[in-house]
Amino acid sequence: MLLIVCPYCGKRPELEFTYGGQAHLVRPAKPAELDDQTWTDFLYMRTNTKGIYAERWRHARGCGRFFNAVRDTTTDHFLATYESGQPPPALPGLTPPAPPPRSST
Ligand SMILES: [Zn+2]
Repeated sequence: MLLIVCPYCGKRPELEFTYGGQAHLVRPAKPAELDDQTWTDFLYMRTNTKGIYAERWRHARGCGRFFNAVRDTTTDHFLATYESGQPPPALPGLTPPAPPPRSST
């Protein structure tokens, strides 16, 4: 069984966790000022990286807290986990987080 390290609880079986999507998304400060396409892209478009990827996870059947993880999507190997709000670790192959979308006006 795959074990995932919750940064708050330690190693736990993967069955205790739920996937939460791409990590480090930053909500635009003034979404009403965005054009429809930019807002739609923020809401629905995610990178779909093959390889090293920063993701949100939740220890749903444990402490219930969200955290971030860096996982290789080709091997399902977790390279790092860290608390939400922390920057991702500097790992080879990991793309840094994108800045939030900005108004085009
Ligand atoms: Zn936990």
